[in-house]
Amino acid sequence: MKEVPEVLREKGLKVTPQRIAIYNMLYNTNEHPTAETIYKALVPSNPTMSLATVYKTLDSFKTSKLVQELNVGEGCSRYDANTDSHPHLVCNYCGRVFDIDMNNFELGMHVSIDNDFLIEFEQHIFYGKCKDCVTNNK
Ligand code: ZN
Ligand code: MN
Repeated sequence: MKEVPEVLREKGLKVTPQRIAIYNMLYNTNEHPTAETIYKALVPSNPTMSLATVYKTLDSFKTSKLVQELNVGEGCSRYDANTDSHPHLVCNYCGRVFDIDMNNFELGMHVSIDNDFLIEFEQHIFYGKCKDCVTNNK
C-alpha cells in the first residue's frame, strides 16, 4: 500500500499526525469501529487527540471517499476504510460487524435492469447471530 501521508495528500487533505493515526487504524482493522472506539484506541499514544478531532477527521475522510460510513442502527456510525460496495453481517448478540467477501455488483445490476432504476448508493446489512455467539450460546 501507499504511504498514508501520500494517500491523504492525493485527496487534497492536510497531513497531520492525528489524521495519519486515524487512517492507519481504519486501514488495518476489519472491526468497523465507531468514532468513540477510534478515539479510545488512539488517545493513549496521541494525548492531544480529542473526540471532536476524530469526528471532524472522519467527516473529511468520508467526503474524500477515503472511508465509508456504515449505519447499522446503533445510533452511531461505524467506519470502514474499504470503500468498495460490500455487504455486512451484524451480530445482534455481540454487536460485531463482519464483511462479506463479495461486492454488490450483481444484485445491483438486477435491481437496476428489472426496475429501470439508476442506483447511486447501496448498503446491505444482514442481522443475526455470529458463529461465536452460537457456540457460546449467548
Ligand atoms: Zn456475535
Ligand atoms: Mn466492511
